[in-house]
Amino acid sequence: YKAKQEGANVYRFYESAMNAGVERFLKIDNALRHALDNHGQNLSLAFQPQYSVDGERILSAEVLIRWHHPEFGQVSPAQFIPIAEDTGQISLLGNWIIDATVRSYAVLVRAGHELPLSINISALQLRDPRLTMTLHDACVQFHVPPHNIMVEVTESAIMSDEIKVMETLKTLKAHGYRISIDDFGTGYSCLNYIQKIRPAEIKVDQSFVGKMLTDRDSHSIVEFTLGLASSMGMEVVAEGVETEAQRQELQRLGNIKLQGYLLSRPIPLEQMMALLEA
Ligand code: C2E
Ligand code: MG
Ligand code: MG
Ligand code: MG
Repeated sequence: YKAKQEGANVYRFYESAMNAGVERFLKIDNALRHALDNHGQNLSLAFQPQYSVDGERILSAEVLIRWHHPEFGQVSPAQFIPIAEDTGQISLLGNWIIDATVRSYAVLVRAGHELPLSINISALQLRDPRLTMTLHDACVQFHVPPHNIMVEVTESAIMSDEIKVMETLKTLKAHGYRISIDDFGTGYSCLNYIQKIRPAEIKVDQSFVGKMLTDRDSHSIVEFTLGLASSMGMEVVAEGVETEAQRQELQRLGNIKLQGYLLSRPIPLEQMMALLEA
């Protein structure tokens, strides 16, 4: 019976593909555990500067985790962060990232640059009531003023457990940390969370910025976000700015911060300092 036979083949294909996926999952999980057991061996931070809309000045930077594994090569955070969330390792990894961030901040300050840093916080971390204290202890130890730390959260992380997450965000704000909504417009969300959180910043997702000159809807979403932000007193960062034409259109639309390959890729701390010096 042909269909059944084909079905069986398809099934075998999926099964092996899935096994390859599971194997990769376990390998990454193991390697990550090893890295964290060894003080974050092969983990590092990259910094992507956020520029004024004219592209002239660096105003802040986003911290992005990097992992160069000796066998797998460069592993993308888009791949290993979700795995670390599934296995719960994100707590340890998140603490490593917080620690490395405040140390970097201190290095920048010693070089004369008081640069606000944005840090990505994942859904699981946001549900952990200890997050605020972990962040705060680290900031106190390295003399980081809370207002210079922007906590980036996604809409889906907020929706993952709205009540718990709201509680965490409230205590973070009470301690003086600033909140940013990452990848704005890509999650399932009701806008009323914006009213409850009152974030300092929203980040227009790169999918809209990338298409804003060729797709009317994307352009409308960018404009809508800017309007919402300006009437509610929030700052806006445009992510994934790749062309001068996009930069010019964004400049025409308003006073926002720019982040993207046009201005700079995510770079190591030393390079970041060289840029700030230039
Ligand atoms: P994200 O927070 O939205 O970060 C922006 C991503 O866009 C980064 O990818 C950045 O390298 C990339 N990007 C910046 N400018 C451009 C551009 O002009 N064009 C294009 N095509 N891409 C651009 P990356 O570093 O691979 O990170 C991917 C995602 O992984 C992040 O998205 C974030 O969700 C997560 N992630 C990265 N670092 C961390 C971290 O330290 N902690 C947590 N929890 N998540 C992280
Ligand atoms: Mg981010
Ligand atoms: Mg983003
Ligand atoms: Mg993202």
